[in-house]
Amino acid sequence: MSETLPSSGSDVSSRHLPSVDRAVRTIEERLPAVPRPLLVRWVRRELAQLRAAGDSGTQEQALERLAAAVQRQAGTRLERVINATGVILHTNLGRAPLGREAVDAVRAAAGNYTTLEYDPETGERGRRGAYLEELLATLCEAEAATVVNNCAAALVLMLKHFTAGPRKGVLISRGELVQIGGGFRVPEILAASGAQLCEVGTTNRTAAEDYARAIDGNTALLLKVHRSNFWMEGFVESPPREALAALALDAGIPFIEDLGSGATLLSAAAAGATPEPTPAEVLACGADLVCFSGDKLFGGPQAGVIAGSAAHVAAIRKEPLFRAFRCDKLVMAGLEATAAAHLRRAAGEIPVVRMMGIAVHDLHARASAMCEQLGEIAGAVRIVETAAQVGGGALPQARIPSVALQVAPRQCSVDELARRLRNGTPRVVAYRVADTLRLDLRTVFPEQDAPLMAALRKALAP
Ligand SMILES: *Cc1c(COP(=O)(O)O)cnc(C)c1O
Repeated sequence: MSETLPSSGSDVSSRHLPSVDRAVRTIEERLPAVPRPLLVRWVRRELAQLRAAGDSGTQEQALERLAAAVQRQAGTRLERVINATGVILHTNLGRAPLGREAVDAVRAAAGNYTTLEYDPETGERGRRGAYLEELLATLCEAEAATVVNNCAAALVLMLKHFTAGPRKGVLISRGELVQIGGGFRVPEILAASGAQLCEVGTTNRTAAEDYARAIDGNTALLLKVHRSNFWMEGFVESPPREALAALALDAGIPFIEDLGSGATLLSAAAAGATPEPTPAEVLACGADLVCFSGDKLFGGPQAGVIAGSAAHVAAIRKEPLFRAFRCDKLVMAGLEATAAAHLRRAAGEIPVVRMMGIAVHDLHARASAMCEQLGEIAGAVRIVETAAQVGGGALPQARIPSVALQVAPRQCSVDELARRLRNGTPRVVAYRVADTLRLDLRTVFPEQDAPLMAALRKALAP
């Protein structure tokens, strides 16, 4: 640590502000994982702001403010958290965690050379993702399948491909012009793909005749988009897929569906009463292509799978954007292991599917054991029955009976307790209900029970 950091002249001009060097030395003890040049960058930026604000505190106060600001920046680092929200596919927490087999596959691919584009038989160049594509096609009962970085990319790729010619029109029901998560809006994706949006029907009711009337010489394709994060009930109508497929066939245009989440037989079974349509079911209804996410209900790494007609899939692989959107070896390794687990019906290997299926009495048993071990602080903790959600743009209606530890803190406010848990090691994300904090156990891995209790003890300490 002999290196001395330059401190610009203006640092000294604000009498009470510490030098960059002094601030960095103070802060780096608390944040040993952050590389020094990054700390210097943050400290410089914060110092400039303090200077601009004409800060008039003492040097110690300035140091504390700098440390707090830098700590906030450091909190944006990608770190593991315990998800006690009861939302299985939590968009902010990275949606699906991978299973052990998938993690092992990613690790092996990450730290080694691989057969990514190598044919061991001939010793020549092989096709990237050939085996994975066969797995996915089998799972979707499709002629062919391929995969790109995410489902949004898959949709853009299909739209670009089918609207590359003179026909630009894409027919879609007004009830499916949806926004999914932050920034994925179907009309904007269409516009960005160079397609012309042709709205059909009304928000709540669209009939096959609405599509039939809208088809003209400019129509390039018929698109259906799954309503992933909301549902409609009451005076609603949408035509059966078979009718849309027949219309498209008649008009000589493709019918494609964006399913959003990749429900398989495994996840459909785990979801119980309100399953999503599986890619195989939708293709069997006559869709030419479907796309879906590699995570969400599929439970693998984020990716966008395209499955259906072999001719269409082959043509899409030749699109220039396909190269831009292609997956790397880490994603492919994780997806290969996850797809194989689905085909083997190994629900236990896919955490998302496993978590949907845990019995409530198992959660109760874990909650009781935890309460017993929490000892003297258990007075603040009760076991309550809750409803977990799938979340993340899948099964919006599904509520899965669940069990939570409900904490009514005595030494601090609920918000303070939540803050302490979020900022502990490991970080724990819970949710607030009135004057209590709830930790839903459905999304907590059993091996996290002990660290969760330790975190709770620490956060509740006076
Ligand atoms: C989630 C979702 C997408 C986007 O998937 P990403 O993998 O996040 O790109 C697209 N369409 C629908 C219907 C979705 O639910």
